[in-house]
Amino acid sequence: MQLMMSKENMREIIAHGTYLRSFCPHCNDVLIVDDLLKLIIIDESGEQGELILSPYLNVFRSESTIQIPDRSIAKDIRCPCCSASLIVKDRDCEHCHSSVVKILVEAVSHRIDFYICSRKGCKWHGLSQLDAQDICLEDSDEW
Ligand SMILES: [Zn+2]
Ligand SMILES: [Zn+2]
Repeated sequence: MQLMMSKENMREIIAHGTYLRSFCPHCNDVLIVDDLLKLIIIDESGEQGELILSPYLNVFRSESTIQIPDRSIAKDIRCPCCSASLIVKDRDCEHCHSSVVKILVEAVSHRIDFYICSRKGCKWHGLSQLDAQDICLEDSDEW
């Protein structure tokens, strides 16, 4: 008789508070500077500033060097290294349906897609459907 491992046992769990080593999906550059996840944010008027997020899972922190009104959606969010837009077209926030940003995060075995909502104050984040089959985020609203 074959011993079957349940799907659940094989899932990798990214624990609450895990430090997410983050990379740009375009140029593969590290997005962490001084233990902070730093991106370029562009507001409705085209003004550009730095968006500073917590690189720890479920430790929510969002600051920017330009004034972004609460609950407003960023016009664009870009990689500080290659300036490519990180906003994706094929997915939106599962809480507020705003556009989302995709970065790469290092899991145990490989780098995975990690999505972050572009609306200020929204804490939604998630994995791709494919990665979510093998990996789950602890304490997340989503998984
Ligand atoms: Zn880049
Ligand atoms: Zn959202």
